[in-house]
Amino acid sequence: MNLCSFFSLFHIFQSFATFVASIKDGTSWCCCGQTFSEHSAIHKHVAKSHNFEIQQLTQAAYEHLIKQLEEEAETQPPDGHMAEAADISAWIPDINQVSEEQLRR
Ligand SMILES: [Zn+2]
Repeated sequence: MNLCSFFSLFHIFQSFATFVASIKDGTSWCCCGQTFSEHSAIHKHVAKSHNFEIQQLTQAAYEHLIKQLEEEAETQPPDGHMAEAADISAWIPDINQVSEEQLRR
């Protein structure tokens, strides 16, 4: 997986999780006038009916990240920040366990 698709997958997963969390109501999820009590059911519903929202969230998350990186670049001393930027695994959560299979559930 190249860095670009890694970031895309990471942001889609983050946005998906954010959206699902935002409609959680206790132990179930309320969405579009329906109540879902199963993880698999709400994930299927969101994937099927809320593609547009996920894309919007993904875009917002991406822009937020770019802004953060730009701000960091401005506040960093000119030397030394390249080494930190290269060590990407230190600040990106490990999503190796998150398969596409899980996203579709
Ligand atoms: Zn819905």
